[in-house]
Amino acid sequence: MLYIYNTLSQRREPFQAVKDQVVKLFVCGPTVYEDAHIGHARTYISFDIIKRYLQYKGYTVYYLQNITDIDDKIIKRSQKLGLDPLKLARKYEKRYHQDMEKLGVNQVNFFPRASEHIDQIIGQIQTLIQKGYAYPTPRGVYFDISQFPDYGKLSRRKVEDLNVSRLETDPYKKNQGDFALWKLRDEGPLWDSPWGSGRPGWHIEDTAITEEYLGSQYDIHGGGLDLIFPHHEAEIAQMESASGKIPMVAYWMHTGFLNVSGEKMSKSLGNFITIRDLLENHHSQVFRFFVLSTHYRSPIDFSIKALEQSAKSFTRIKKLVNRLYQLLDEDLKESAEEPFQGWLQEYKEQFFHYMDQDFNTPPALAAVFKLTRKINQALAQTKPSLPVLKNILSFFHDLEEILGLQLRAEDEEHRVDESAELLELILHIREKLREEKEWELADKIRAKLIDLGYEIQD
Ligand code: AMP
Repeated sequence: MLYIYNTLSQRREPFQAVKDQVVKLFVCGPTVYEDAHIGHARTYISFDIIKRYLQYKGYTVYYLQNITDIDDKIIKRSQKLGLDPLKLARKYEKRYHQDMEKLGVNQVNFFPRASEHIDQIIGQIQTLIQKGYAYPTPRGVYFDISQFPDYGKLSRRKVEDLNVSRLETDPYKKNQGDFALWKLRDEGPLWDSPWGSGRPGWHIEDTAITEEYLGSQYDIHGGGLDLIFPHHEAEIAQMESASGKIPMVAYWMHTGFLNVSGEKMSKSLGNFITIRDLLENHHSQVFRFFVLSTHYRSPIDFSIKALEQSAKSFTRIKKLVNRLYQLLDEDLKESAEEPFQGWLQEYKEQFFHYMDQDFNTPPALAAVFKLTRKINQALAQTKPSLPVLKNILSFFHDLEEILGLQLRAEDEEHRVDESAELLELILHIREKLREEKEWELADKIRAKLIDLGYEIQD
């Protein structure tokens, strides 16, 4: 049974799809005005894996991610650069897709753009006005938070506590915390509406899009922690008021931040590394592995040192997998005493147990490491039979599918070649130690090498 932590209930809940085996997943997409950074990547890699695991569990997942191509930040930047805002947005949307492709984040089924759903947005605002949840002013249309008593249920905030970003100041507003659904403007990009020309507010684009493609109630809505308030709170207010159906979303999932020295990586703080810059010097698979090493809801402290550590750990698993593939060419004997099948059973069970606990990847990966270590140690003495070897490889293949990792790396041979000289040096030193009768140290080196997947015959 899969359990998912629901931000709304603040509890792990057994997962049940709203309808049959189909899961409708929506994750807030990027605001496209600059290159995405590795904090964004952390969130999108996490949901990539969440979808992969749901699929592995037998669900058909329809994953939608919007593109925010209308936003004050986009307009500000385009004015600074003297560019058309929508052209600027298209440019960075394209670059975002390129970045995701390089990261192997490829599970989204559809990327609807806000600018292409203006009719749906206007329709939803009209419904909200008709039902008494929204009102027009000379500056725009606002959602009246006093009409929605549940406002604050996701973030557990009080309505008075409203010191929030992206909130319009307007003397005509009924409550200070009322948020804009439509902003009347003179400067572009502009669209006509029953209230005058202008553009939509940030929150309404998501609910208009999700209602269009997923309906007014669906399974999972995700995003980074920073979106809980006001963005997701506002989405609940809009959609549950417009449809009268509660809850809008069965499971609210939020990713923790990727931090640098304890501070959230963000464009505004200027402490960011773009995905592009990172991938100039580091392999995207290593970054994915690094992300997986922390639970998706916990903060990750990013450093190059931590990334390099991930590279080592990842290589250890890959080395074993490649070695196992090589064994396929050998003449493998049946043996009643081989320990491999038992270990596979044990650690495979552990892996799935932890993945079922709200996609808890760190202990799930720890189980994979334990299996790797056991197999490496045993391979020095014995080999698995062919059927058992195939079972082990099949598990590693499942891991590739679930985690989006390539374990049987094409460049592995090249890597092994590169490390061959180093290995030779270590063996040479060990030989010298043996000549000097430094048995203890020589044995330690031998044990460590076996641990790393090398077999030594003295
Ligand atoms: P934005 O384009 O700023 O709206 O962000 C797109 C997505 O990336 C949202 O789900 C954010 O919560 C998420 N995000 C932004 N910065 C970080 C970060 N440092 N760590 C994790 N997720 C982030």
